[in-house]
Amino acid sequence: MAILDRLPTRVRLMRMGLTVENEKCMLCGIEAETRDHLFFDCGFARELWGAVLILCGVNRRVRNWGRELAWNVHCFKGKSLIARMFKLDWASHVYDIWKEINSRLFGGKTRLMDDVLKDVKEDVQI
Ligand SMILES: [Zn+2]
Repeated sequence: MAILDRLPTRVRLMRMGLTVENEKCMLCGIEAETRDHLFFDCGFARELWGAVLILCGVNRRVRNWGRELAWNVHCFKGKSLIARMFKLDWASHVYDIWKEINSRLFGGKTRLMDDVLKDVKEDVQI
């Protein structure tokens, strides 16, 4: 759903004519909540993905959605252990950010990036 840009972000909900409090990102409260912003442009997400990359021994700057997706698709084709690990990292990053947004929206709970990183690590270990 994220790759297809079909997640119900605030901007998408507003474009569909639904009433939304505002279009601001649930993580930073500054920028408009689009897919591209949520997963790689937002400071929270950028810091999270950067921490995941460091844990994987990858030293590179976090880029935007399109470039991160292209990097993953290009570098991690196939079914090798490293390719599977990075696909899991990517999926966990997206899933745990979406889970954090829902937690803030529906549960009123805000966690730090390090707490979300623990979830990503746990997801990948499982
Ligand atoms: Zn944000």
